[in-house]
Amino acid sequence: MTFNRRKFIAVGAATAATLSAPRVLADNHGKPRVVVIGGGSGGATAARYIAKDSKGAIDVTLVEPSRTYFTCYFSNLYIAGFTELGDISHTYGTLAAKYGINVVHDWAVDVDRDAKTVSLAGGSVLPYDKLILSPGIDFVEGAVPGWSVAAQNKMPHAYKAGSQSELLKAQIMAMPQGGRFAMVAPPDPFRCPPGPYERISMVAHVLKQTNPTAKILLVDPKEKFSKQGLFEEGWERHYSGMIERVGPDFGATNVTVDPEAMTVDIDGSVENVDVCNVIPAQKAGRIADMAGVTDGNWAPVNAADMSSKADPDVHVLGDAAQQGDMPKSGFAANSQAKVCAMAVRGALTDSKVFPAKFTNTCWSLIAPDDGVKVGATYEATAEKIAKVDGFVSQTGEDAATRKATYEESVGWYAGITADMFN
Ligand SMILES: Cc1cc2nc3c(=O)[nH]c(=O)nc-3n(C[C@H](O)[C@H](O)[C@H](O)COP(=O)(O)OP(=O)(O)OC[C@H]3O[C@@H](n4cnc5c(N)ncnc54)[C@H](O)[C@@H]3O)c2cc1C
Repeated sequence: MTFNRRKFIAVGAATAATLSAPRVLADNHGKPRVVVIGGGSGGATAARYIAKDSKGAIDVTLVEPSRTYFTCYFSNLYIAGFTELGDISHTYGTLAAKYGINVVHDWAVDVDRDAKTVSLAGGSVLPYDKLILSPGIDFVEGAVPGWSVAAQNKMPHAYKAGSQSELLKAQIMAMPQGGRFAMVAPPDPFRCPPGPYERISMVAHVLKQTNPTAKILLVDPKEKFSKQGLFEEGWERHYSGMIERVGPDFGATNVTVDPEAMTVDIDGSVENVDVCNVIPAQKAGRIADMAGVTDGNWAPVNAADMSSKADPDVHVLGDAAQQGDMPKSGFAANSQAKVCAMAVRGALTDSKVFPAKFTNTCWSLIAPDDGVKVGATYEATAEKIAKVDGFVSQTGEDAATRKATYEESVGWYAGITADMFN
């Protein structure tokens, strides 16, 4: 069955590409149709839950260009050598074979909200009753003058995992002894608030092993960052003297880079670096903008069901959504996806819908077995997803607690990826 479905998809895509006029794919046997754009933390979860829980009553199509999804979570650990790239890669076969999801490997290039159709780069047109957008992030053009995606091979972002993570790791391993690694961190709001600082920790860890006289320059436009006290305590304990953070007081809001010269200009002071990890300011993945559901940056949604404030038949999940108090994380996207899946299934099949509840925890690794976390529970109010209760690791915790926290994160990784793909 898997083979036939895959073959059908491959033939369908090839045929579509050869037709001059777009085709509407409407063979849904009268079932309601859900199209999900983006097969990551939000989209894969939503597709899986709708297909699984509706037991075939809803026709689910998942549009995702990549055949392999590399999780950003644990990609910093990959850079430090704690995991292999294969350990953070996942494919879509089970979603097709076990749940009957129509997995289409293509780009969505347009959404017509009046006709309720999605156009794909290959030429096909998919009709929908409900559309779910979970396209993740794109970078704001010109956010770091001198940097563009054309320069991402010289100065990688590694903020979409996969080849960029491999490249950044290779550049770090090739640094000259005593060389300098720089990161240009993004302004709020951005994907994974602790992500840049976990990365600094992991780069410090690998350099401590391979290049102990190397230095790390963190150029950060923000006054404060997630789990700051915990990271700074850990950096002092494990990597003393290695990491220098330049904040807004010292010009970090006025930064340009030169990828050819490998320099970072911080408010007129030009620094030579050997590796430069530029993580630009972010906005919703472009297709959300093309669907006309963003405010120019993010897509405002209703907390109760993640529906767009611009269109009740379009839902936006994960990083692309402007939802309130939740951070932009994989955990959050997965949690929002389950709320959305229940609401969509309820609307299309009259099944019971329970009040929305959301949870999130973000774990970060500072050094081997030194894990920290921050998390919260949330509820839907009329205005937003609102924080109810939170917790955060404490400075000065003992080694056993930190090790247990790290082990928890390993368990979480297995759980969320199974919840998305198995
Ligand atoms: C370094 C790093 C570390 C992180 N660590 C953690 C962590 O420890 N815990 C945690 O919870 N989160 C973590 N995150 C954040 C997490 O990866 C994201 O918040 C999460 O993946 C968001 O899910 P999403 O569905 O919005 O987007 P994604 O998971 O990025 O999925 C978006 C998908 O949409 C597809 N897509 C985009 N445009 C189109 C289109 N036009 N047509 C079809 N498909 C399209 C993309 O190919 C992609 O597969 C980390 C992020 C980074 C960068």
